[in-house]
Amino acid sequence: MSGFSSGFPGARDIARDILNRLRSVPDLADRYTDVVTLDSLEDLVHVPVMQRDDINVALAHLKPRAREGATWMFQSGGTTGSPKLGFAPTGLYMAEVHQQWKPIGPDDLFVNGWSAGKLWGGHYLVAAYADLTGCTGVPLGSIGKHEYDDWFGFFIERGVTAIGGSPSGLRALFGYARENGIKLPELRSVLWLGEAWHPQLDADIPAVAPNARRWGLYGSTETWVLGTNTPDCPDDTWHLLPSQLAHVGADQLIDFTSLKPHGLNPVLRYQTGDAGEWVDCACGAEGRALRLLGRRDGVVKFRSVGIDVDAMIADVGSWPGVSRAQLRMNEFADRLPTLELLVCPAREATRDLPDRLHEHVLATTFALRDVLRTDPAGFKVVLVDEPVSNERTGKTADLIVRRVQ
Ligand SMILES: [Zn+2]
Repeated sequence: MSGFSSGFPGARDIARDILNRLRSVPDLADRYTDVVTLDSLEDLVHVPVMQRDDINVALAHLKPRAREGATWMFQSGGTTGSPKLGFAPTGLYMAEVHQQWKPIGPDDLFVNGWSAGKLWGGHYLVAAYADLTGCTGVPLGSIGKHEYDDWFGFFIERGVTAIGGSPSGLRALFGYARENGIKLPELRSVLWLGEAWHPQLDADIPAVAPNARRWGLYGSTETWVLGTNTPDCPDDTWHLLPSQLAHVGADQLIDFTSLKPHGLNPVLRYQTGDAGEWVDCACGAEGRALRLLGRRDGVVKFRSVGIDVDAMIADVGSWPGVSRAQLRMNEFADRLPTLELLVCPAREATRDLPDRLHEHVLATTFALRDVLRTDPAGFKVVLVDEPVSNERTGKTADLIVRRVQ
């Protein structure tokens, strides 16, 4: 057994089709010359893994189009000023998700709290899901603190039963509600996707909405939704969709093959950067579930934005006036994390270096400015004499995570 199997209808032919499309991309063809054919899915073991850049190279050449309706473009991660794109047809493949995952139904009043626009997928993905449930939807988007009171008033008056957002957005909302004694007794379901669950929500949600439980989606803009979980599953454990074939390889890195008929992104053994292992889920559902073990590619999530630490430090470190740069993430029990770029200035550093670096990082890190809109102090550039080193090992890491009590 090579670890590749799927009961999805037409799986092998769909994988073959993706392989043929990838072979037609001039810049990728060489990688696939040794892969003669896929007699069965087991032969995927001979197919080289893809990284995000490979998918972007393929998409730039293939320019995929949906067979029906519109083709939608979304930003697919990356720490760069120019967005890398992923594609999906109208509906964003959510019919399959709806078959497997039912946190809301026709009687729900559902608030979609993912930020909208700017190529972000979450808002539209969950809107497509809501269409299938027959619920009543409220397209809220992301809101600022000064708007919270008005909106909570609306939620209570209308009897909102479900709300969804990124864990960072939910932390801000539920943290505020808890602090201010706001109660949402009719809330049943909290939908989340975009970053790991945060344990603070396990304390804040019951204080605000004692009847609410969390329901998660896991995926990426390259693969779209990979898996779902329910309140009875651990928050890091996922039940894959039938069309998603996962394989746990060396160093526990997971690669995914997307077997959607006519899928637009050519996802064939694509490594998202997540590591994982197969487990039996505590919810008791049949079949194995995928438990995530964190990332292995240097990308950290800051308020739902993926930051490529190596790329950012290399970029900032090449600036005149910078002798060493380091990123520090401060985590708090009761509020959102903050990010600091620690910079040891070189002799030629000018006085405006921190301001220019601040603007540069905001301008070149996709969506960072957007998640800081209501809290500009969440990212700072700080001049320091020495980088922070581990006193025991003497090592100086590019990223330090500090838990502030
Ligand atoms: Zn489960």
